[in-house]
Amino acid sequence: MRLRLLDLLCPRLYAESLAGVDLDALAERGIEAILLDLDNTILPWRDSEVPEESAKWVREALDRGMRLCIASNTRNPRRLKLVAGKLGIPCLDKIAKPRRKGLRQAIHIVGSDASRTAVIGDQIFTDILGGNRLRMFTILVRPMHHREFIGTKISRLLEKPVIAWLKRKGLVGTKAFKEASEIQD
Ligand SMILES: [Mg+2]
Repeated sequence: MRLRLLDLLCPRLYAESLAGVDLDALAERGIEAILLDLDNTILPWRDSEVPEESAKWVREALDRGMRLCIASNTRNPRRLKLVAGKLGIPCLDKIAKPRRKGLRQAIHIVGSDASRTAVIGDQIFTDILGGNRLRMFTILVRPMHHREFIGTKISRLLEKPVIAWLKRKGLVGTKAFKEASEIQD
């Protein structure tokens, strides 16, 4: 099956925040492992304090037997390890999303395969594109904070028309989960 560019940029699900990702829905789909983006997904960029709603969601996922790993493009491994240690989950830095190599390594860490692994992140051109290239279950969340790395700010300019397209399709901007497949039809 050939994936078109827009399909590669389209998340399978959209949620307002990490805490809004429905773990029941993921379990029903056979998802057993989740790769988490760090900045503006788990916590605001440059912060080291994990918001309680993110920590609670991670605890609930672990309680259900989900295997989690933070898969980040960050160049600050100390901060990444600090956050991962607080959450009690493994992490992998400099994975260079949307490249596939790092994501494959992270999938290996959680002991799963791509079809049973979700990736959750706030950026289309890294988290979603990378996950879709491996046919993972991709979930886009709204960025936690407007403060961002300069490279991310540039990437956001390119994201804008894609987000506009997703909005036209009814995906982004809804509170409830929506099936991307429904929307693409
Ligand atoms: Mg991010």
